[in-house]
Amino acid sequence: MFEKILIANRGEIALRIHRACKEMGIATVAIHSTADADAMHVRLADESVCIGPAPAAQSYLNVPQIIAACEITGAEAVHPGYGFLSENARFAEIVADHGVTFIGPRPEHIRLMGDKIAAKQAVAQLGIPTVPGSEGAVGSDDDAASIAAAIGYPVLIKAAAGGGGRGMKVARRPEDLPLALTTARAEAKTAFADDSVYIEKYLERPRHIEVQVLADSFGKVLHLGERDCSLQRRNQKLWEEAPSPALNAAQREEIGHTVTSALSKLGYLGAGTVEFLFEDGQFYFIEMNTRLQVEHPVTEAITGIDIVREQIRIAAASPIELEQSDIVIAGNAIECRINAENPFSFQPSPGTITQFHAPGGLGVRFDSAMYTGYRVPPYYDSLAGKLIVHGRNRNECLMRLRRALDEIVVAGIETTIPLFQKLVRETDVLNGDYHIHWLEQYLAAHGA
Ligand code: ADP
Repeated sequence: MFEKILIANRGEIALRIHRACKEMGIATVAIHSTADADAMHVRLADESVCIGPAPAAQSYLNVPQIIAACEITGAEAVHPGYGFLSENARFAEIVADHGVTFIGPRPEHIRLMGDKIAAKQAVAQLGIPTVPGSEGAVGSDDDAASIAAAIGYPVLIKAAAGGGGRGMKVARRPEDLPLALTTARAEAKTAFADDSVYIEKYLERPRHIEVQVLADSFGKVLHLGERDCSLQRRNQKLWEEAPSPALNAAQREEIGHTVTSALSKLGYLGAGTVEFLFEDGQFYFIEMNTRLQVEHPVTEAITGIDIVREQIRIAAASPIELEQSDIVIAGNAIECRINAENPFSFQPSPGTITQFHAPGGLGVRFDSAMYTGYRVPPYYDSLAGKLIVHGRNRNECLMRLRRALDEIVVAGIETTIPLFQKLVRETDVLNGDYHIHWLEQYLAAHGA
């Protein structure tokens, strides 16, 4: 097992990884920008290295500095968390070239899944159902028009290099297509320096359901059930739950089996998530994330498995000590993303937290790097904390969530808490009766 791990991230996820390391008796190294000198992840770590100025490109994305930090501190492995360099295959290779273990999948699988067109083609060959759409990248506008006509409107234009919902445009009618193509290409070019796009059937009322997997270096591939992340705004998740209120045990078993058998054929290693849209009883692959996800704690709550510990063990070439039959889903869990932003306009709200109180009690977990007096910097994403509640059933989970949301205090900045306080009292949410466009429609109807 490793003796020292460098955590190449910040915020709540850096703390999350630190906690797993400490439980395993592993020393931690934090890296930070000058803007994060007094951040909680720096305070908790055994050692810390300042790797550059505030902008992420010069600090958390600064590969030479991160490698130097490994060399100076003697860290044997790097955990990238999510975001930043977590899905950068080249970074994984560079880390390995320096004799340091990258805690994550093999570079070739990171690269494959990072190209959404190649990923879709690869998983289709491995027996995973995909959304009907173009065979690969679309060429001219005329080609796009004939593909769209064959699939049937509405269609969705998506960026091959996509992520975070960017470079995605809907065309409801043939006359919308040229503008949708131009804007999707322009957005993709700006965000990813790659303007290739593909076309998919636009699903009107699907749920977003994703399957968590763990695969070790001995060929064992397990799934830990699914998460339902249908409550989204601008294709960004805000509320995630497990298990999905929409799946029965047979559907869970079937999709879990489809995913694990495909990934075992691929020779996948580490933790990963296969994302689907689910409509009328059918699953349609949209993408695979080759990293830890923000919403992993809901799966931890219902399975009792520490996913970060498993990632570290797998990277140290230890076998997963569980069988599929050992994974038992107990109760329900819900996560709310507490973002530092206006709850209805979603404008970022950086600033100083003048008062902070974390909720507690049975079945309540609060993952956050906030403290009273902490200044949320304007440079990074707005996720400030995650409230995760667990109950023996969904009803108990919702009771606990209402109580915990009323207990949290985050003063001095705006957060998404007031939105969740409303959602947790909405009939459709209480009934688990929602789809990926539900929240946008709700916000529009409530004047947001
Ligand atoms: P990204 O990599 O940008 O996150 P995804 O492919 O994961 O993109 O899609 C993000 C979200 O966009 C999905 O969760 C869903 O809400 C929406 N979406 C993606 N594909 C479709 C589709 N074919 N029809 C309707 N909505 C879609």
